[in-house]
Amino acid sequence: MTSAAGSARWVFGDQLGPHFLGPEEERGRDDADRVLLVESLRALQRRRYHRAKAHLMLSAIRHRAAELGDRAVLVRADTYREGVLASGLAPAALSVCDPTSYGARRLVRALGVHVLPARGFVTSESEFRAWAESRGKRRLLLEDFYRAVRQRTGILMDGEEPVGGRWNFDADNRLSPPRGATTLGLPEPWWPQEDAIDASVRADLDSWEAQGLISLVGDDGPRRFAATRDEALAVLDDFIAHRLPEFGPYEDAALAGDWVMAHSLLSVPLNLGLLDPREVIDRVVQSLAADGVPLSSVEGFVRQVMGWRDYVWHLYWHFGEDYVADSNALSAHEPLPRWWRELDSGAVTARCLSTAIGEVRERGWNHHILRLMVLGNWALQHGYDPRETTEWFTASYVDAYPWVMAANVVGMALYADGGRMATKPYAGGGSYIHRMTDLCRGCAYSPTQRVGPRGCPVTAGYWSFLARNRTALAGNYRMAQPLKGLDRLSDLEEVLLQERERGDAPP
Ligand SMILES: Cc1cc2nc3c(=O)[nH]c(=O)nc-3n(C[C@H](O)[C@H](O)[C@H](O)COP(=O)(O)OP(=O)(O)OC[C@H]3O[C@@H](n4cnc5c(N)ncnc54)[C@H](O)[C@@H]3O)c2cc1C
Repeated sequence: MTSAAGSARWVFGDQLGPHFLGPEEERGRDDADRVLLVESLRALQRRRYHRAKAHLMLSAIRHRAAELGDRAVLVRADTYREGVLASGLAPAALSVCDPTSYGARRLVRALGVHVLPARGFVTSESEFRAWAESRGKRRLLLEDFYRAVRQRTGILMDGEEPVGGRWNFDADNRLSPPRGATTLGLPEPWWPQEDAIDASVRADLDSWEAQGLISLVGDDGPRRFAATRDEALAVLDDFIAHRLPEFGPYEDAALAGDWVMAHSLLSVPLNLGLLDPREVIDRVVQSLAADGVPLSSVEGFVRQVMGWRDYVWHLYWHFGEDYVADSNALSAHEPLPRWWRELDSGAVTARCLSTAIGEVRERGWNHHILRLMVLGNWALQHGYDPRETTEWFTASYVDAYPWVMAANVVGMALYADGGRMATKPYAGGGSYIHRMTDLCRGCAYSPTQRVGPRGCPVTAGYWSFLARNRTALAGNYRMAQPLKGLDRLSDLEEVLLQERERGDAPP
């Protein structure tokens, strides 16, 4: 790469941090003379996005352009291609870090832009390929990938051994919420303050929507997630100071009155490319010695970022472009009901589902357990079409991008790939939700009842899911126990009839 070619860098809207500007051989150095940013209207028209997501995407690009000042070339165009061609920068003189979707990768190559390896993850694509090849016919398990990365990077390692003598603290990290608590009692998170750029984005969105150019869903509201690097660093500091110590133990717990719990709120700035995951991990690991944060929380967090986040990124490429379209192992063809599409939490009686959908409507965000064990579980139970469900998650969540959705929705939540990613479906009944959350408290349904007016739709949905997929799941030894339970169910016919009658009515 010559310095002349390196002097004009095209950055996509998820490549907004300084680590996307330097040359390949010295990533920390920011030597780009000109930085091209393209705002594409067509990109916003592709889906019916959550208003908060559309706002974040544009706000982050415009803030970055303002920060870069004269170095920025910000182009507003219909498509990315038109934006590049209108920028006055010759594509052959531009470089770009390999983008994060199949379509964008094709585009940068078709335009003849110089393509550098992707950034924004701890491990490179070639490292993952080498690891995957070294597995032979063995499954590409997250746990094995994560351990290999720890060994290679030395993060949380004591020579050849994991720090603390254990790789995994999941067993310590599965606490139910504190008894009787309505919140974890942690300080209010640090929130960004909106500025004139945010206001300009809001005005543009309103005007485009009024002209019928775009269609959005979800509430408007103050921007809750970091859109600049300074804001992202403030969120990281705040998380380490106030929530990281409780992150591990309460990672899987949920409370209706505490939407953040001890989570980091870092997925947005990480996925916008404002923070390098390696710097986030280094800061979190430092807190072990510097602030005495428990190892179970530090390890639990490192596992999420260096393990899960990198793992789903690599699986997006490993499984291939047709993975979402071609995966439907459980023959799930139900369309999403209106209350999902319109984020109509008010139509829903079951408190877990109305809370989860209400949070999405309000902010375009839920923490992991509500995504997986409330909404994902419901979509799995009810046979929602995997492709449509993936589109819904991609459009509705502020931190969503196609690369992060494929494995999380198709593989993990819906088991639509027949077990390429997860060893068994993450299906659960109301008792799991009752144990890990307070969402059953005050609900019209009872998690222990399957039928009748108080029969819990999630519990009934679980049994009806098992009954419908009995044959498909029979060969999976991890499903042997649940299927035995199904055989013992005395009122199965009644449950199935009730669920058939419920149809797609809001539960
Ligand atoms: C059905 C489903 C959909 C999801 N959709 C998204 C999404 O659109 N974007 C997204 O970034 N994450 C997604 N996740 C993963 C996870 O739920 C979110 O990363 C997390 O809730 C974001 O909140 P946080 O930043 O406070 O995370 P924390 O709980 O504080 O976790 C720390 C970080 O770990 C990373 N992480 C943890 N788990 C995952 C994972 N499974 N995949 C990727 N990164 C992970 C994220 O970068 C996150 O910021 C999804 C999970 C499921 C089951």
